[in-house]
Formats: sequence, C-alpha cells, structure tokens
Amino acid sequence: MALPKKVLISEVGPRDGWQNHPVPISTETKIKYIKKMVECGARKMEITSFVNPKYVPQMGDAKEVFQGVQDYLKENDVTAFALTLNKKGVDNAREAGFTHVEFVLSASEEHNLRNSRRTIQESLDAFKALAAEADGLHIILAMPCVFGSPFGDDVPLDRIKWLIDEAKSVGVAEFGIADTAGISTPENTRRIVRAIREYTDLNSVSLHMHDTYGMGLANCYVAMEEGITMMDASLAGMGGCPFAPGAKGNIATEDLVYMCEQMGIGTGYDLSKLNETAAEMAEEIQASIVSSQGAACKHE
Ligand code: MG
Repeated sequence: MALPKKVLISEVGPRDGWQNHPVPISTETKIKYIKKMVECGARKMEITSFVNPKYVPQMGDAKEVFQGVQDYLKENDVTAFALTLNKKGVDNAREAGFTHVEFVLSASEEHNLRNSRRTIQESLDAFKALAAEADGLHIILAMPCVFGSPFGDDVPLDRIKWLIDEAKSVGVAEFGIADTAGISTPENTRRIVRAIREYTDLNSVSLHMHDTYGMGLANCYVAMEEGITMMDASLAGMGGCPFAPGAKGNIATEDLVYMCEQMGIGTGYDLSKLNETAAEMAEEIQASIVSSQGAACKHE
C-alpha cells in the first residue's frame, strides 16, 4: 500500500510521558505544557488517567489538570481523552468532563493481571458492562501487548480478533493497539497490522509504539505502509517502559513528525516548535530528552 498523505499523531506525553516521572510535576506546569503542545500542533491528546493515585501519584490531579485546559482544548478543536482501567475510572473521567475515554484491556493475560489485577475475561466483562451504558461517552478500547508480551506468554491473533469482535458487539469500534514493551520488529508489526486490517477498519485504529529496542519508527513506517494513519507519540520521548526501567520510552513526537514530514506526510505539527518546547519542558521538569531530534538540535 502507498504511504498516507497525512496522519493524526496523538500526543500522549501528559499521561504516558509524565506518569512515571520521578519528579512531581505541578498541576500548573502540566496545564502550561498541555497548552504548549496544542500550540505545537497537537489535535488529539491523552491528557491524564483516572487510576489509583496510590500507584500513580503523578496523575493524582487528573481532574484539576483537565479543568485547567478544558476550554482551551475545545477552542482549538482538540480531541482530549483520559485513560481508565475500570468503572470507577470511567465514572471519574466523565464527572471531570471528559467525553472520550480509553479503557485498557491487555491482549496479554499476564500483563493484564499485573496492570489491572484482573484476568482478561474479568476486564472484558467490566468493559462490556460499561460500554452498554456509555450514554454518549466515546469509548476507545486500548489493547497493550498486541505485538507480543514482555512476560513470554502467548498473544494469539484469535484473541485480538475476539476482543475486537466483543468490543464491536457493545458498540465500541475505535481501538488502540500498543507495543507496550517495545519488543516488536517491523515484520512482526506488519503481520499483526495486516491481521487487524481483516478484523476492523484501520481508520479507527491508533498505533502506540515504544522505542525500547530502537524499533519504534521502523514499526510506525511499516504500519503506515499497511494502512495505519493514527499514531501515538510523546514529546521528548518521555515515558519509559514500566517493565524495563531506564529504557527508552514512547516514540518521541518530534522524531515521528520529522520522519513523516521529510517523507511528505502531513502531520500538522511545527517541528521547530516541538523541539523548543521539548527543551523547555525537559529543563523545567528535570527530565532528559531522549529523542534523536533533541540530540541533533544540541549540535546545530
Ligand atoms: Mg506507552
């Protein structure tokens, strides 16, 4: 397939990038950088998560952060969503004013147990019950470990198809497919995306790649060749894989934007603004920039 003419890159830094950052980021700082990300061109953003603050203290101000950016996001036509793991999270997200939520259900049994403390079947039952009473709430089914499990358990294609079918049976037709541990390689990515293309419309599937082993952009490239036009990325490449401490995290927004724009694929982002914002943010929140753009810019 030909590469797309344009893609929608969802900025997931405010949730995935920041959630495990060891230095607490103030609500005010989060609000400031979410707005700056919009100025850089973000039009779809993962703003926060509604999870137990005991486990993820950095997201404890989810409601306050959204209150601080909600109007600004609306004015700029940004689709904002929050991550949730259960009914309580969905209820809290709705109460905070979110119209879009992501429900996480891992394709790996072992990962789902560790991440949600439930079996896949239990998470699926909870998800279906929620979706049945969505009442206007737009729900995205986010599936970690679609490209393989870091724990060595098998992730069969049949299961991915089953989860997609089950979601559709309750009216959910938008999906996130993630390589949570960054273990996929281009040919594996091609194989999985091709399979998923048989199960659902790829126009409603967002790809979430990690760069643990440096395969992130190559994986995005083959996924675009196979028809993916929505991808997640995190400014400055923030957000390490929780199962590989110290390893590279999400693919960096500025690296993905560079690759796409250089190949004539429109992203709507301003690359130099992204690099400036990444540098400013990294300094302010005491993070390191792990993007190739960041390393290259230092020498310009
Ligand atoms: Mg991630």
